[in-house]
Amino acid sequence: MYRYRKGFRWMGMGLLGLIGFAACNNTPNKEGVTTDKDSLTADSAKMAYLAKTGTAPKPPEQPFMADSNKLYVYLTFDDGPQPGTSNCYNICKAQAVKATFFMVALHQQRKRDGKQLVGMIRDAYPQFLLANHSFDHTMEHYKYFYQHPEMAFDNFMRAQDSLAVPKKIIRLPGNSGWVLQNQVKTSHLVSAVAHRLDSAGYNVIGWDLEWNFNHKDARPVQSPEKLAAEVDSAFSRHNEHIRKNVVILSHDRMFQRPADSASLVKFIQIIKQNPRYVLETVDHYPGIKK
Ligand SMILES: [Zn+2]
Repeated sequence: MYRYRKGFRWMGMGLLGLIGFAACNNTPNKEGVTTDKDSLTADSAKMAYLAKTGTAPKPPEQPFMADSNKLYVYLTFDDGPQPGTSNCYNICKAQAVKATFFMVALHQQRKRDGKQLVGMIRDAYPQFLLANHSFDHTMEHYKYFYQHPEMAFDNFMRAQDSLAVPKKIIRLPGNSGWVLQNQVKTSHLVSAVAHRLDSAGYNVIGWDLEWNFNHKDARPVQSPEKLAAEVDSAFSRHNEHIRKNVVILSHDRMFQRPADSASLVKFIQIIKQNPRYVLETVDHYPGIKK
């Protein structure tokens, strides 16, 4: 009963919003005259969207135009939701920078607040992008996983559904490969699944640099200054996969401790000091299929 009433109240709020939206959105027709018929058609489309999704339609996304004077840095966090995910989120939020979270569906199921953390990232677009890092991270049997491309493909599809990933963007567990518009560049092991994902319209994002971690306690290896110097060097030596773009791999769990969270803050601050650097989400990486 409560749920029913709450649903109606919610719908009522949505309808009020739509009426307001329609009231200030009467665009003129070809003759420059706004008719009731026009606004009724637009209104019924919005009503249908609300009925289907339970949310008011979002305004259309603005096309992204890269600035040729800038150098793009993509901060990516893998394997969440895990301890450390909320620190990464809060730090990037406080620093007002963009980041991408490649998440694992099984970790969402296993972590008490997993669904909430994934939802928090998903809802924070365009500052944060939720992307697909498989259903179960291959259960750490990488070779077997990639040697069975149909099984691996289904694993990614299951994650896409379970995490409600908004875009067709994947990172392969344990393997840096690239699948973009007219480009599949991977190791031999993952080539079959990469082509399978490509034909289904998916992108795969690898990395140019890794913020390494100690596998015993998940603490970062490079200092923030050292990592920032590696970013500078990747640009100046043209070591990027695509010029003027550097993708950094890191992991949520590296930033659980206050001292390591402080390193993440420091790294972001160093990057922000360079006026040519822009922190972006990977859906704006060049050559991404829409
Ligand atoms: Zn991973």
